[in-house]
Amino acid sequence: MKRNEMDFELFCLHCQEHEEHHFTYINGEISKVKCTNCGHELEFKVDLMKEFSRELYEKIARKPQRLTKEYKEDFSKFISSIPVRIVKKPYSVYRYLKDTRDVFSNYNKK
Ligand SMILES: [Zn+2]
Repeated sequence: MKRNEMDFELFCLHCQEHEEHHFTYINGEISKVKCTNCGHELEFKVDLMKEFSRELYEKIARKPQRLTKEYKEDFSKFISSIPVRIVKKPYSVYRYLKDTRDVFSNYNKK
């Protein structure tokens, strides 16, 4: 799960000016737009659990058949078995889970 931030100039309905707006994206979906002039914020609900399971499914789909079958058969059992599997996975997976956890904690902080 990835969080990105970008600035674009946009017309702000709140202060009625063309101003820089700060966009926050989660997995390419806009989650927040903030006017840098008046601070007015627009939030979009991003379903984190849905994003997370979609991403997880995409990762797993590229893994050997056994995992994919297991995943389809019993999602919750598979989820609970993940911590054991991670130990054997490369650093990129660890990094991915750390990023995901960061996104979740930032998202819940507000
Ligand atoms: Zn504004």
